Amino acid sequence: MSLASMAERLTRRTWTDEIVDAYVGPFVSAHLAHAVAASVREDAASGGAVTAILVALLDADRVDGALVCVSAIEDGRVRARYRIATTRNELLAARGSTYVLGAFVAEALPLIEAFEGRLAVVGLPCELTALARHTGLAEKVAVRIALFCGHATTSELVDHTTARLTQRANGAKLTSFRFRIGHWRGMTRAGFDDGTVIEQPFSAYGLYQNLYYFAAKKCMFCGDHFGYDSDLSAGDIWSAKYKSDPIKHTALIVKTQAGADAIALAEQRGECEVVRVDIGEVLDGQRRIAPFHYNVSARAQAGVGLGLKIPDRVGAHVRWHERAAARIALQDFLATQSPEGAAAVLRTDRRVLKLKLLLLKGLESLS
Ligand SMILES: Cc1cc2nc3c(=O)[nH]c(=O)nc-3n(C[C@H](O)[C@H](O)[C@H](O)COP(=O)(O)OP(=O)(O)OC[C@H]3O[C@@H](n4cnc5c(N)ncnc54)[C@H](O)[C@@H]3O)c2cc1C
Repeated sequence: MSLASMAERLTRRTWTDEIVDAYVGPFVSAHLAHAVAASVREDAASGGAVTAILVALLDADRVDGALVCVSAIEDGRVRARYRIATTRNELLAARGSTYVLGAFVAEALPLIEAFEGRLAVVGLPCELTALARHTGLAEKVAVRIALFCGHATTSELVDHTTARLTQRANGAKLTSFRFRIGHWRGMTRAGFDDGTVIEQPFSAYGLYQNLYYFAAKKCMFCGDHFGYDSDLSAGDIWSAKYKSDPIKHTALIVKTQAGADAIALAEQRGECEVVRVDIGEVLDGQRRIAPFHYNVSARAQAGVGLGLKIPDRVGAHVRWHERAAARIALQDFLATQSPEGAAAVLRTDRRVLKLKLLLLKGLESLS
């Protein structure tokens, strides 16, 4: 048995109906899925199931377009930009996760409003809540797909990452960027105008992200990991037993009939392979992050001593290790709020940060 499997066994959690209801909300079923075509899976964030479902919806004329988000390059910088994809190629171009926060309300909602036709919308949980609050768009939106979301980061972290990659490419101009592709935690890939392609482990970015450095402020206040306001939600499955599986999967949670119809269609059309699993299997794959994310109460309590006022709308029971983990996350978030603080964090020996991450993961794992 691997060390990771042993650690999982020791920190096993019980997912009671009450916990599932709190974290996920009402749901119909849970699944593991992947795009049937390897060409769709490559460059996808997980198993490419989200893209495969969008392709099926578009090809079957269930929707006229899909609101997606791309990692756009603007003046050598990576920014989250929204597009309405109306062709298979545009959907493929939008594969992958864009971890830098976009301006969904200011940029995506007007696109949805202006579009004539029916849409599928992919968004982060908070973005789908913003969509739900925006009256008058419900009729236009046939299906809402939420991405499981730990949190998003600010542009400073990706600017730091691309500046270093540009240096390694001897100053060539950045032309393409994928935050995370490939198996398990994956690789970051940057392309340059002289043909140079640089890949580095996603952990170069993920180490800071997982420690909540450069976290977007609103994420500190949010407890919605799985997308309460979605028809279908999609994420990774981080259980050790899937590490050696040659095909990476997307975990799916069906919330409504529209969500169930969307995956049934993708299956019928041969775009997606879907296997039903117990919801506990999906939650096992999020065993640390989902409880941490949901527990806004822990951050509200830890925030008091740090001068951060976080409203507690959850009223969850907070144990010492949850408060300690929340304190680390908030301290790290605060540390990167000023340019001087951010520079100091980026100068810190990565071995020290890795030890800190181990501590945070340890605290998150206690149940
Ligand atoms: C900020 C962020 C945080 C995440 N946190 C977690 C987490 O903690 N745990 C977890 O299991 N999974 C998380 N995910 C989801 C995960 O990275 C994958 O997106 C998900 O597993 C779907 O994979 P896929 O291969 O099926 O999707 P793909 O087939 O690659 O399609 C992804 C779709 O999502 C759209 N998209 C990408 N980024 C954004 C964005 N920022 N806003 C709106 N739409 C977007 C793309 O345009 C594309 O249509 C996160 C994603 C993001 C963007």
